[in-house]
Amino acid sequence: MQVFDNRIYEIVEKGLQGKGLTEQETLELYRVPETSKEAAYIRWAGQDLSLRATDGIAEIHAQIGLNATTCPKDCLFCSFARVNDVRKGVYEVPKEEVFEYAKAYVEEGANLILMLTTASYKFDKLEDMVGSVREVIPADMPLLVNTEDLTLERAKRLKAAGAQGAYHAVRMREGVDTTIPVEERMQTFANLREAGLKLSTCVEPVGPEHTPEELTEATFRCISTNPMTAGVGRRISVPGTKVAERGMITDVANANMVAIYRLAVGLDYKLNCSANTAMTAASGANLAWAEVGTNPRDTVERTEHGGRGAAIERQRKMFQAGGWEVRQGPSQGWFD
Ligand code: SF4
Repeated sequence: MQVFDNRIYEIVEKGLQGKGLTEQETLELYRVPETSKEAAYIRWAGQDLSLRATDGIAEIHAQIGLNATTCPKDCLFCSFARVNDVRKGVYEVPKEEVFEYAKAYVEEGANLILMLTTASYKFDKLEDMVGSVREVIPADMPLLVNTEDLTLERAKRLKAAGAQGAYHAVRMREGVDTTIPVEERMQTFANLREAGLKLSTCVEPVGPEHTPEELTEATFRCISTNPMTAGVGRRISVPGTKVAERGMITDVANANMVAIYRLAVGLDYKLNCSANTAMTAASGANLAWAEVGTNPRDTVERTEHGGRGAAIERQRKMFQAGGWEVRQGPSQGWFD
């Protein structure tokens, strides 16, 4: 019979104290085979620590994709990337329909609303959309953007228009599988911070080719940005994209990574993403996304119509199955 690895046991026990792990310890956890008994222990520990860190409260953040216009940044995993030739021409969701999406999300119990655009969406339009959507949702509902890299001036304008934060990430193999330099991403983090916009980020999109060393580096880069939400999200293989043939990691592997992220960061962060399956929601992930409108992980015009788009009710049931209680009302801590 295989003997339980004592070193992994010690690292996990340290992680369970909630004070985080070193990069070396985190690397050793990322090296554990996903089907081993040690991995099962890591997943249990991730869940235990997350439940303690968050008082058992999970959240559902709601994304509205504003456009699907082909994007010149050419991230190889994205259906919007011009290089992938999956999408054609210009496509934008009309403003009235964005309002309807936002109002429906509020009624359904979303804890936060985020608007996503490609890098080809005009900034003035996004600024206007932030201000307009702000008026149709409750004043205490956090409103975020997920858009291209931002100068300080633009970050300040979005804040003034009514945004509380942004989703922004240094992608796995940024600058190699994308055309965006890592430094540009890092500058945006700094600009967001200076403008008073809070950060939601993630180690993503993770595929089978990414090494424990890359995952460790990305994990500690995320931690260094002091985000409101972070974790690990796997890459979805979108048919027609340049990296689809590299395949996807399993739910189990993603669940291990989510748990390791939690152990690495400790009790500090309240929201650990990405709870995209029951397995991850049982391994420490307490943040799930609902999606409507356009979606880079999808090829249909509206993701809620026959695509990947997850409805709030479905995510709520997933969390309940994992023993979580879903927060009622807006997510906390986004307003100054
Ligand atoms: S991930 Fe974002 S920046 Fe990259 S191609 Fe897609 S829309 Fe453009």
